Amino acid sequence: MEKRYDIAIIGSGPAGLSTAINAKVRKKEIILFGSEDISSKIAKAHGINNYLGMYGKSGEEMASAFRHHIDEMEIRITPEKVTNIMPVDDYYAILTKNGMYYEAASVILASGISFGKAIPGEKEFLGKGVSYCATCDAMFYRGKVATVIGYNKSEEEEADFLTQVAEKVYYIPMYTDEVNVNEKVEVIQDKVLEIRGDQKVTELVLRNHVLTTDGVFILRESVAADSLIPGLEIEDNHVKVDRLMKTNLNGCFAAGDIVGKPYQYSKAAGEGNIAALSAVSYLDARRRAVV
Ligand SMILES: Cc1cc2nc3c(=O)[nH]c(=O)nc-3n(C[C@H](O)[C@H](O)[C@H](O)COP(=O)(O)OP(=O)(O)OC[C@H]3O[C@@H](n4cnc5c(N)ncnc54)[C@H](O)[C@@H]3O)c2cc1C
Repeated sequence: MEKRYDIAIIGSGPAGLSTAINAKVRKKEIILFGSEDISSKIAKAHGINNYLGMYGKSGEEMASAFRHHIDEMEIRITPEKVTNIMPVDDYYAILTKNGMYYEAASVILASGISFGKAIPGEKEFLGKGVSYCATCDAMFYRGKVATVIGYNKSEEEEADFLTQVAEKVYYIPMYTDEVNVNEKVEVIQDKVLEIRGDQKVTELVLRNHVLTTDGVFILRESVAADSLIPGLEIEDNHVKVDRLMKTNLNGCFAAGDIVGKPYQYSKAAGEGNIAALSAVSYLDARRRAVV
């Protein structure tokens, strides 16, 4: 059997890291998914004046202080993007973009939010030509046309990967950095307006182009939480939680920007603390029920 962790934490921003250190203090076996740079929302901050002990520090300095803290506590970030979380009996099965599989008795969602609204047609065609993971769904586009909307430079490799399978790949960058993709990818700088289709996606409407395409990969840093885990209750575009950061799913908790405003480091870290303690109580109560 796969190793089953006590707590899987999705996200390595302030909410996820605070969850991780508090769960570790309580001696729980954790797996922390996220990115090596901690969080792009920390790295991009110029100056931080409202986080205790960080007055006047830059985002980079904050990230480096957070890194030092988790290193000292021997907490490791697993640099994999989680694409699916499935509730199974009394645990959660977790799949990542690299095709890895993990199991955990509880899950804490701390994956932040993506700014910007869903693209018209995105929800309607999800699973019918709209996908959030190129490596997971590339095989459906063998010999077909695929379009990638990339919100971060790191998504360029997904477009490159698709050229190994698809007949044609368009790439639409949603950022201003220079784009470096292979010569088989056609880069189109334009504003995305709408995904259209009938039973499945047939075209992507841009301000100055209409692309005929079989699929649209929308690659943001954070995936909408209800696409990550089925049955999760959402309210006003955020995961619905109570004061103990419990979601409507047993053993699933959430913290940070993903649960709502204000979008702030201190709030995220505080909620991560509460979510960790709630998960610990949940696991301990379960263990007592079995004994
Ligand atoms: C430019 C800028 C400046 C800011 N300045 C301030 C400030 O001065 N003071 C302040 O209080 N707040 C500030 N904020 C807001 C603050 O950054 C956020 O409120 C805070 O980072 C939220 O923390 P979080 O842990 O909820 O999410 P995030 O910091 O967004 O972290 C989310 C993490 O989840 C990871 N992740 C996402 N999806 C997945 C997945 N599917 N699998 C695995 N990992 C995943 C990401 O890689 C990231 O590590 C600023 C934000 C920006 C953008």
